[in-house]
Amino acid sequence: MKKNTTKIPLEEVQQGLYAKRKKIYPRIILGYFSRLKVLSGLILLGMYYGIPWLQWNGHQAVLFDLPARKFYIFGMTFWPQDFIYLTFLLILAAMILFFFTALAGRLWCGFACPQTIWTDAFLWMERLIEGDRPKQIKLDNEPKSFRKFRIKTTKHALWIIFALFTGYTFVGYFSPIHELTDSILNWQLSGWETFWVLFYSLATYAFAGRLREQVCTYMCPYARFQSAMFDNNTMIIAYDEKRGESRGSRKKNQDNYKDQGLGDCIDCSICVQVCPTGIDIRDGLQYQCISCSACIDACDEVMDKMAYPRGLIRYTTENKLKGKNTSILRPRLFVYAGILIALFIGTIYSISIRSLVELDVIRDRQSLYLKTDAGMIENIYSLRVMNLDNKDHAYNLTITGIEGLALVQKIDIKTKSGEISTVPLRLTVAQNKVQKRTTTIHFTLTAKDNSELTITEEARFLGPLRLR
Ligand code: SF4
Ligand code: SF4
Repeated sequence: MKKNTTKIPLEEVQQGLYAKRKKIYPRIILGYFSRLKVLSGLILLGMYYGIPWLQWNGHQAVLFDLPARKFYIFGMTFWPQDFIYLTFLLILAAMILFFFTALAGRLWCGFACPQTIWTDAFLWMERLIEGDRPKQIKLDNEPKSFRKFRIKTTKHALWIIFALFTGYTFVGYFSPIHELTDSILNWQLSGWETFWVLFYSLATYAFAGRLREQVCTYMCPYARFQSAMFDNNTMIIAYDEKRGESRGSRKKNQDNYKDQGLGDCIDCSICVQVCPTGIDIRDGLQYQCISCSACIDACDEVMDKMAYPRGLIRYTTENKLKGKNTSILRPRLFVYAGILIALFIGTIYSISIRSLVELDVIRDRQSLYLKTDAGMIENIYSLRVMNLDNKDHAYNLTITGIEGLALVQKIDIKTKSGEISTVPLRLTVAQNKVQKRTTTIHFTLTAKDNSELTITEEARFLGPLRLR
């Protein structure tokens, strides 16, 4: 019998399921898109760190006051019962993501995702301390030394300070930032504030400083389901294989490279060196690509040096790359845009007509009605008045539905901003005016200082079973 002598190569046998991470040293690049990215990063970071310091009507402009269960957003106060708007907001955010992904791929990932923005900030600090890519690689390969220790310690100290500032700002959205600052300066931070400052700082340091591209590659679900939103007309960042291949080095002013079967790619690998996720865009569309456009800027710079036309790597569509007709404005986009506009208008409208006073009328369950010696019928109620406005209010109450219906005693309804007051009251009416066993009546509450702040609630007035 013939023996099977097939040999398995040693490297295949030794291949493990776990691949150790290779540190990525993205090379710095200056170009049109990288400037746009810096601008968007500065605006978004400025908003994040600046917004908690804005004041509006004597309140922090944006404050999610969880203990008081009140959310202040630029002069508007939202309450737990307004959580429907949070649902609208989340649906709106999802639709914006769908729309922009269908239009221009992972634009969000490259230019607006907090993971990208903070990673860029951490990379900037790393370059500030360690220098650009070649210096960083050299430093990491150096043996241990005091110089290396000093540089690395300085970098991590800077990262930790920045992460702590980020954590402190995050908590400033939930706890008034001026009071929070005083508490920090006086070492009087509460337990939960300390926990969240440290937790968010640690998350920032770990995600943006240490894990970086691994968050996008292994942890972010968006990278995985984005392909469901892509089609052949979606704008993507792609390498023009037809134009670039065969790749190969050549002299700068060599005009006859095409005769040698070479394309425009000089195989300099700069597009790979600038990539924050360490991929080679020339291998085609990959889920690790966060559409940061760094490879476009890098390759354009190379093309300029070689005096070739720009755009070997560019924003394009799969159809265009294949030489087919492409249509960026397609029905799917109009559907997303239509839903987006309708949702946006609906949310703004429903917020604008939202009542800033709420009223519950609760009938006394102990008695159906009372009959007095004077021939009057009385019903007892309890009013729950919720003031959702930023100001305290006093209210006028009117009751309609039965002729001659009146309060037994005058009542004073005053409710502080954000509070609920409970007001007991007794209504009386002559028995001969009560025509039915149950009559629908209306309670209307109107703020004394603002007639537009009004609400009407329905209730029942009960009379005797047999009316005489
Ligand atoms: S930067 Fe451009 S020329 Fe250089 S390897 Fe990348 S695609 Fe080729
Ligand atoms: S392939 Fe290009 S666009 Fe994609 S992540 Fe890398 S550098 Fe950014």
